[in-house]
Amino acid sequence: MTLLPKLLSDFSGSIKLMFLFVLSMNLFSCDSNSAGQTGQTTICKWQGNKKAAVSITYDDGIKTQFTVARPIMNKLGLKGTFFILTGKVEGAAKGGFIGRPAQDIINETASISTNEVNFFERASLIGFTGTSEALDYHSNAGVLYETGKILEAYQLMDEAYGKLRNGTLKNTDELVYHNNPEDTVSWNDLRTYAAEGHEIASHTITHPRLAVMDSVNLLYELEQSRLDIEKNMGAKYTFSVECPYGTENERVMRFAHKIYPALRNRMPADYLEELNRSSKLDPGNSQKEYVQWQRGPLTNVSLDVMNSWIDTCLDHDNIWLVLVFHGVDDLGWEPKTAEELEAYFNYIKDREENLWVASFADVTKYIRQRQNLEVSAHIDSNEIVLQLKSDLDPVVYNVPVTFKTYIPRDWNMVTLTQRGKEIVTNLKVNNDVSGPYVLYDLVEPSGEFVLSGSR
Ligand SMILES: [Zn+2]
Repeated sequence: MTLLPKLLSDFSGSIKLMFLFVLSMNLFSCDSNSAGQTGQTTICKWQGNKKAAVSITYDDGIKTQFTVARPIMNKLGLKGTFFILTGKVEGAAKGGFIGRPAQDIINETASISTNEVNFFERASLIGFTGTSEALDYHSNAGVLYETGKILEAYQLMDEAYGKLRNGTLKNTDELVYHNNPEDTVSWNDLRTYAAEGHEIASHTITHPRLAVMDSVNLLYELEQSRLDIEKNMGAKYTFSVECPYGTENERVMRFAHKIYPALRNRMPADYLEELNRSSKLDPGNSQKEYVQWQRGPLTNVSLDVMNSWIDTCLDHDNIWLVLVFHGVDDLGWEPKTAEELEAYFNYIKDREENLWVASFADVTKYIRQRQNLEVSAHIDSNEIVLQLKSDLDPVVYNVPVTFKTYIPRDWNMVTLTQRGKEIVTNLKVNNDVSGPYVLYDLVEPSGEFVLSGSR
């Protein structure tokens, strides 16, 4: 990788040398081996100039995630992301079918078979008729539909509605929640967890198969969940969503992208390769600037395998490992025990010098901030002046970004200032093959910053 320094003016007769580097940030990383020309400034691939990022995420808002896993993380100072079902939180919208009277729909199924016109309406309603069996029909129809077995999905609806008509299945109007019905959490608790530094994010209201819902019900699950989080937690926690069952259905993604800036399911970008939980591809083979590598530590996945994911990250410089946990101890799908979590989180903690452990939102923001920032630097005898420009909203995209700047060989005390205010005095000077450099985090990376040194 090479920089393209553009010599603006050369006052070498006098004292001043001035360069302007216009950096296209997707071309450079902090580990660039290009010559460390004074003033050369790069944005590190990961915060803190680490080798990889890890996000520890939890789905379904299961109680033991908060009461068992969270304290282990807190003890180690690790921050996670909890994708919650807002319908299970006290005081939030509980979810339910929106549309024509249920009985009208049920009656109609006696004379009209399920087809492409009525399938989404029927598949939406069945999940809200109040029994686990009906919820399974909804969910299984979703599996069939998303795997291209459309006619079988229609047949399954006909079977389910046949049972509703003959009374084998009852429409109780109760809400049945995915997997763990008795499990609730309060907004007060969630605010406490957020204050500890964890991210609270949406996993919809009721955990439906969004791909088989009609637009009104699909949108409600996404929008109302967002509204309840915003009202009770603040806008900061409306950044990320995970649409249930890891769906990558195009129609769902289109809707969700309009409501949430970050989808753990998919968020395509030309600089990002996404390997989902079922992918067998080796993230080390990716040629992209970043690889988001999702892994699901299910019950039978050994600690050795889980540790090897971390080792793989450390063998490269572009991997963002996104761990997807569900159950913990005796609650939730595919649970891991507290002992396993403790051992694993310690393994991660022990490697924190090279691993950036951060919430899903923070890593997403960092990558986007880095890809969007334009940096120019000009140099005179004892100052390097940096101009930073980004078109992202600074209120949302506010993650500290790590910069690396090569400095003159004879500088010792290096000070970073912004608008005349000293931010860091006496930055640590490091050396690599290209020369001396400083690393520093900019909390609001926009406008003008000055590095100055004394000789
Ligand atoms: Zn889930």
